[in-house]
Amino acid sequence: MATLLLVEDNEMNRDMLSRRLMRRGFEIIIAVDGRQGVEMTQKMKPDLVLMDMSLPVMDGWSATRLLKEDPATALIPVIGLTAHAMAGDRQKCLEAGCDDYETKPVEFTRLVEKIEQHLGGNL
Ligand SMILES: [Mg+2]
Repeated sequence: MATLLLVEDNEMNRDMLSRRLMRRGFEIIIAVDGRQGVEMTQKMKPDLVLMDMSLPVMDGWSATRLLKEDPATALIPVIGLTAHAMAGDRQKCLEAGCDDYETKPVEFTRLVEKIEQHLGGNL
């Protein structure tokens, strides 16, 4: 079973998304800000990270950049969740090192497809 780290500061989004993902059979661990997201990725080595971009303490762009600079975590796929539908924010997400992104509000079926695609054989 794949373990996903969900980094999301909004409690309602976090609860809803984690519950739906667990129902799909994923194991979910949670971080509530960017710094905690980096620390938990280093410590727990999840199979994939779902990273909100707008986060307290450290934003998702900075957190993703740190993960991708560290050889110990660089290969863990990061899917950025951005509230901004603007192309500039998606570009910023990819430049920070996100492997993919999904615009919020999340379209759940498409998000699961992207997760499975990035997990590859690691399901
Ligand atoms: Mg947020």
